This record gives sequence, C-alpha cells and structure tokens, in this order.
Amino acid sequence: MKDYYNILGVDRDASFDEIKKAYRKLALKYHPDRNPSPEAEEKFKEIAEAYAVLSDPEKRQRYDSGGLNGVDIDFEDLFGGFGSIFDVFFGGGRGRTSSDRYSPKRGNDLQYTLEIDLEESFKGTLREIDIEKYNTCEYCEGKGAAKGSQVTPCPDCGGRGSVVYQQGFFTMKTTCPRCKGEGTIISNPCKFCGGRGRVLKRKTVKVKIPAGVDRGDTLRIPGEGEAGLNGGQYGDLYIVIDIKEDRVFSRKGQDLFIEIPITFSQAALGDKVKIRYFGEEVDVDIPAGIQSGDLIEVKGRGFPEVGGNRRGSLFVKTVVKTPKKVSGEMKRLFEQLAILEKKEQVSLWDKLKNVFVKKSV
Ligand SMILES: [Zn+2]
Ligand SMILES: [Zn+2]
Repeated sequence: MKDYYNILGVDRDASFDEIKKAYRKLALKYHPDRNPSPEAEEKFKEIAEAYAVLSDPEKRQRYDSGGLNGVDIDFEDLFGGFGSIFDVFFGGGRGRTSSDRYSPKRGNDLQYTLEIDLEESFKGTLREIDIEKYNTCEYCEGKGAAKGSQVTPCPDCGGRGSVVYQQGFFTMKTTCPRCKGEGTIISNPCKFCGGRGRVLKRKTVKVKIPAGVDRGDTLRIPGEGEAGLNGGQYGDLYIVIDIKEDRVFSRKGQDLFIEIPITFSQAALGDKVKIRYFGEEVDVDIPAGIQSGDLIEVKGRGFPEVGGNRRGSLFVKTVVKTPKKVSGEMKRLFEQLAILEKKEQVSLWDKLKNVFVKKSV
C-alpha cells in the first residue's frame, strides 16, 4: 500500500490546509502543463491520488485505519478533474476542462456564392452545387481510430490540447506539441482519414432557389456544412445569391425594367404592344405623345416576393428609334411631315419671340 503522507511529504497528523498546500506545491512541479517528462506524469498521478484520498475526510479515515484497500480512483476521472494549472493555483472552479475536448463540437458553417440569371431569380430554380468540404469519415465513423484501436487522452496536456508554461513573469499557453491540440492520442489511427475523423470530399448539394430571390439574399441549408468533431452535428451551408447582369432586363427591388424600341408614329399616335418575358406575356398600352425614355408602369407583373404573393411592377421604357434609311413612299411622307412641322415651329418661335421682346423692354 502506498504511503500517501510520504508522497505528499506531510506528517500523519497534518491538517487539511497543510495537505492542500503540499499538494499545490508538488502539483505545480509535476503538473503535465508544466513538466513534459513521462516521469513527471507518473509522479503527478501519484500526487493526485494521494491528495484525492487525504483531502477527503472519509477516505482519509479509511486509509488511516487500513480499510482502504486499493484506492478506487478512476484515472480517466482524475485526468478530467485535474483541470489546468490555473486550477492548482486558484483552487479549481474551472470544472472539467479536459472533458470539453471530447465533447461533440458542431462543424463549421460554410458559405457559397451562387450566381443565377435574372430569369432564374424571377421563376425560382433547382440547382446542384458541388462543394468540397469536411465530411465525417465513413470508415471510422468520425472516431479517427482504426477498428479495435483506442483513443486516449494525451498524457502531455491531460487532454486539454494546450500546455501552460512560465516565461519570466508571464504564464504562456500554447498548443500541445504532442497531440497538436487534439487532446487525444490514437494508438492506431484510421488509415482513411489519418486519425482526423473527417475527410475532405466533394459533395453535390441540391438547392431549391425560391422565386423572387435577389442579389445578396442568403439561403440557409441546415446540416450541409462541415462535419462536426467527436460526433458533433454538421454545420449549415449558407448560399449567397448573386445575379448576372442582363442585357435586356434589369431589376430594382421587386420591379423589373425592360427597354423597348418604338417608332415615331407609335410615339406620336400611341399603340398597343405585346411584351414577352420569362415565360409571361403582357399587353402594354403606349399612350399617344410618349417621349423617348418615358416609363410605362404595369402593376403586379414584376418580381414575386420570396414566399409571398405580392409582385412588383414591370416598367417599360420606350426608346424612340430614328429610321436610319428612308426612301420611296416613306420619304415622301416624312417630307410632307417636315413641311407641316416647319409651319408649327415658325409659329412656336413667333410666340417665343414675343415673350423675349416683352421681357427685354
Ligand atoms: Zn477515419
Ligand atoms: Zn496533448
């Protein structure tokens, strides 16, 4: 039977405070955070065991009377209970830091920018996207260990993944060099994932893009992010919508804009035109006397709102096109028109002249 008093270097009648003081002093010397040698680890386990017994009045009594036959200390538990070196300094209270290392961690969320065209944003679409991401390793089911192999806490850092050392006045915390921050040591790592439990893999994800989505809108696809650690759930995938510029159509909020060419006579006399777009058809009345660049609003024929029924407007911009070549009958008519226009212009100038004359007097 081990001599716990001897291990802690205290008398058999030492008070609880003396035992605690002795333990802290030794723990600081041999704690895995401070002392990386394997001997120190063994020594520390011994110290911790001694302290676990002597600091507990009931266990100490049983030990003193020889009734404590082999200490039933779960070393896993002990390791978990060690906490960091800070706990030794400040008397614990940080809880089981190391157990956090094994607790499931949710995978990272991913973001993907998807470019669609204006028609797709108008009607909605179904797209398949290929993303390379970390998936749970199928061979070891994310454990990282080959079949029959064990995953044990890293002895150097006690499973925390970080070690603390003293440098001058400062206490430095750094990633554990032995387990590289994983907190665990795998005796026989899974060959497929190299012990990481996750593998980088391409995956095709089907994405339903609802009608009405706009540039910058984000769709969340639950569970399509990266695999979690230690059996944690997958993160989410966020799809950010980008919309390709269109030569004919443009969009502002829920309104759709289209530019149409019209002739002189359409502009002067008015007309009714049919406009086809994105599988829809709409009759537009061009009022007589419309100017080049004017907008005609057709309510309720623009973009739908995502998940709703309301639609924006369709704005038709009329652009009067000047014929590049006129000949024959058309030329004759334009010449007649020109004569009429000249007369009107003269009378218009006469009116203006009068205005100017009056003003200058
Ligand atoms: Zn694996
Ligand atoms: Zn480690």
